Amino acid sequence: MPAFTVLNPATEEPVAEVEQTSAEETDAAIARAVAAQAAWRMVAPGERAALLRAFADVVGAHIGELAELETAGSGHPAGQARWEAGNVRDVLRYYAAAPERLCGKQIPVPGGLNVTFHEPIGVVGVIVPWNFPMPILGWGVAPALAAGNPVLAKPAERTPLTAVRIGELALEAGLPEGVFQVLPGKGSVVGQRLIDHPDVRKIVFTGSSEVGREIMAGCARQVKRVTMELGGKSANIVFADADLERAAATAPVAAFDNAGQDCCARSRILVQREVYGRFLELLEPAVKAVAVGDPAREDTEMGPLISAEHRAKVASYVPDGAPVAFRGSAPDGAGYWYPPTVLAPVRLDDPAYVEEVFGPVVAVVPFEDEAQAVAMANDTPYGLSGSVWTRDVGRAIRVARAVETGNLSVNSHSSVRYWTPFGGFKQSGLGRELGPDALDAFTETKNVFIATDQ
Ligand code: NDP
Repeated sequence: MPAFTVLNPATEEPVAEVEQTSAEETDAAIARAVAAQAAWRMVAPGERAALLRAFADVVGAHIGELAELETAGSGHPAGQARWEAGNVRDVLRYYAAAPERLCGKQIPVPGGLNVTFHEPIGVVGVIVPWNFPMPILGWGVAPALAAGNPVLAKPAERTPLTAVRIGELALEAGLPEGVFQVLPGKGSVVGQRLIDHPDVRKIVFTGSSEVGREIMAGCARQVKRVTMELGGKSANIVFADADLERAAATAPVAAFDNAGQDCCARSRILVQREVYGRFLELLEPAVKAVAVGDPAREDTEMGPLISAEHRAKVASYVPDGAPVAFRGSAPDGAGYWYPPTVLAPVRLDDPAYVEEVFGPVVAVVPFEDEAQAVAMANDTPYGLSGSVWTRDVGRAIRVARAVETGNLSVNSHSSVRYWTPFGGFKQSGLGRELGPDALDAFTETKNVFIATDQ
């Protein structure tokens, strides 16, 4: 199979050549996973826990190396990349505790009792996008392994380096052969095979809603289990009574984290009309202060976009004559740079307001009252994330309940933690990842009746 050349998005220079897995090699990997399955599910819970802890420790001992790979291959700022590698370690550690708590129920029934078991589903395919190659890998892989399933992970073609290394670290930590395999390659080849192959019993897909729809249809042919984490167009709702300074100071992180290539990006800022002007005044210096540049530097906050094609797509949302209120900076020269960009005022049918840009472009629009804010926030096919800024506790709860999204924050820009459930409403996804109940998605409940009558 041909190799893919991973480019450094900050320099456009080659970083590594990665062999693409073929359909035949994918089938062979699936066969190895099936062969590993019987032994893995029978590993005693405490032993499986110990192996996952060892895996977490080995990842933890390679944070610097993994972060450097991510900075070179994906353009993530060094500090962010270290956080992401640490997130893989922490997620593995969190789910290492799960095998020993995978308890069923006993239910009294006439003539006996029923007991329930949480059985592993079987081979799980985890399909990962390019924007957060490490955390999204960990969020699917760790609970799937903890539940006793072998896992095949397909990183995005462009960003395979850290996943491949994490696969090697799993073996170093002592995970049995075939239990966790990483298959770099194309979605249309490796991903499609995972969907079509009957021995793969579940797909965990994170990516665009467009590809997600195809994958769901593919899985439907075999009634294959599927979890989907898809796109977003989240609203950051700022009421007039909010701490405007904090809301404005954190809005750039909420919108431009990972150069806006973030499914949870709060890319629409809705501001109550009476403070709209003041909010923009506060937002401007915060946006201009975002340190955009060489991701290998410790003080860099925002790196480049992933590719030239993606930059062209992002730029298409800001054509000549677009209502650019102000912008941050970006380096010239090599690299897929795009400056943090604020559009205001924006028409509500402007594609930059309606569609997922997946880049550092945010639209700021005014609203009149609570009802209109909720209606505007919900006027999208997506429903992944969002924030509410207000000092009125009742309103905070009311609005958080009324906004149709899976993950909200009140007076904070962040809502994703591995110990709380994560997932979307509407076209942002199906099912939940993370949190204390994450193993439910990787097990089947079996119900057994035991007669006690003579
Ligand atoms: P894509 O949907 O293009 O790709 C995601 C993954 O699916 C890649 O590994 C890709 O492979 C693979 N793939 C593509 N086609 C197929 C196919 N026919 N069968 C199986 N697999 C396939 O998304 P992007 O990588 O462009 O990621 C960006 C999108 O992901 C955004 O919409 C973003 O919102 C969303 N996302 C959602 C998150 C969430 O948790 N809700 C989190 C992060 C991102 P390859 O590209 O290598 O060919």
